[in-house]
Amino acid sequence: MTQTYQNYIDGEWTEATTGETFDNRSPSNTDELIGRYQRSSEEDAVAAVEAAVTAADAWADTPAPERGRVLEDTSRLLADRKDELTETLSREEGKTLDEASGEVQRAVDIFQYYAAKARDLGGRVKSPSASDQNLYTVEEPLGVTALITPWNYPIAIPAWKIAPALATGNAVVFKPASLTPEIARNLVECLDEAGLPDGVLNYVTGSGSEVGGVLTTHENVDAVSFTGSAKVGDHVYQSATEDQKRVQLEMGSKNPAVVMPSADLDEAVDIVAAGAFGVTGQACTATSRALVHERVYDEFVDRIVDQAEEIEIGPGTENLDMGPHASRDELDSTLEYVSLGSDEGATLLTGGERLDGGGYDDGYYVEPAVFADVEPEMRIAREEIFGPVLSVIPISSLDDAIEIANDVDFGLSASIVTSDLREANRFVEEAEVGVAKVNEKTTGLELHVPFGGVKGSSSETFREQGDAALDFYTLPKTVYMSY
Ligand code: NDP
Repeated sequence: MTQTYQNYIDGEWTEATTGETFDNRSPSNTDELIGRYQRSSEEDAVAAVEAAVTAADAWADTPAPERGRVLEDTSRLLADRKDELTETLSREEGKTLDEASGEVQRAVDIFQYYAAKARDLGGRVKSPSASDQNLYTVEEPLGVTALITPWNYPIAIPAWKIAPALATGNAVVFKPASLTPEIARNLVECLDEAGLPDGVLNYVTGSGSEVGGVLTTHENVDAVSFTGSAKVGDHVYQSATEDQKRVQLEMGSKNPAVVMPSADLDEAVDIVAAGAFGVTGQACTATSRALVHERVYDEFVDRIVDQAEEIEIGPGTENLDMGPHASRDELDSTLEYVSLGSDEGATLLTGGERLDGGGYDDGYYVEPAVFADVEPEMRIAREEIFGPVLSVIPISSLDDAIEIANDVDFGLSASIVTSDLREANRFVEEAEVGVAKVNEKTTGLELHVPFGGVKGSSSETFREQGDAALDFYTLPKTVYMSY
């Protein structure tokens, strides 16, 4: 029998005031109903904010090592449930078991990292100008934080927002993406079991505009951290800054990988293919443009097409090379971009078709696509596609590559494949991005270094992950103490 799952507000699993639910189906097989989730109203979102307000002071006053203890226990509980969570994530979002397992492990590691960080929190002691004076800073929590997350990394992104928010003593209202409420609910279960006090973390499912709308405008929400599309992110920013909330946005991109003639071509093809087709191309750091030097262009194109054609596609839980798109909308959007690319005059060398027949009819499967002869002005070379579609653009020099790489509205991640140190360094210096990589795929991040983009990819206010995340969730107070 299909289970109905509840919100988590003030330490209680509760039904929405609407009495309504929505279905969550697997994108690998839409006959598989994962569960029913609360279609919450604005009233439910307000109740969650009020619970967080009530709990915030006591949590802020809880010694940081004790807060860290809760995070440590959460990490352990996640690790204990790793196999089950991997399966859940794969069923719900569609990524392969290997990809899902890596993501669950990331959540385990993030909680462990911020558990340790909680012990290290504090401020700085500085030399005062006067005698008999202490001059120092303390890092204070902001209060109530609203965390709004997307479906494509449905446990890692919530983890990298929730863990630093709690470590630093903030209360949280968490709204997961409607496509992936189950893995998010499992994370909340682990935090509950780890002993988080009532009201410190609240989980509310339902429509982005209704629940999200309350979270970005409620007067008692002090900060909003949002990851999602540029369109929604812009709206969130406008609403949340009206009453001066602190805001952090991480959004889409159009990440380039440059391939220079000095590159080891086998390595270059592997790097680009992994960045373009991994997680079905549904990563904000996915490689969407390969800028390939004309001296190696033809050979690169032949080899990347071969790689794309070798990719085996199937349900996430069958753990082949690539799972389905996460939803019908995402599939349709990719198919529309493939058709647009051909209309714009690019050459579709392989893929781009919806897979049908057999079990494929039950899910949202698409073949990875490679376009050659793409011009930088084409929409497929400028707009985020969020699917396994690679545009290969010929370049004649590094100058050319840098100009084309930077000439888009986004700037999250960029990579160059080269064995020339001078080229590598120039690219790192001149790429307009938040993450620059050399001989590495554009995807894949370490958890202890800052993450964020420039231009339309990010609000450019605060970075996520590492110590940078602690800055977002705290405000320094400067203390002058004469004695
Ligand atoms: P959306 O922008 O559609 O949704 C993101 C979240 O915002 C969801 O929880 C959604 O809820 C919620 N939301 C929707 N409307 C509103 C609103 N009016 N007010 C407040 N919240 C709202 O993005 P997707 O979930 O489709 O995620 C894909 C996007 O995320 C891609 O563009 C991708 O590039 C980006 N992304 C960026 C990353 C980064 O770090 N830079 C990392 C991962 C993804 P609901 O689901 O209920 O609609």
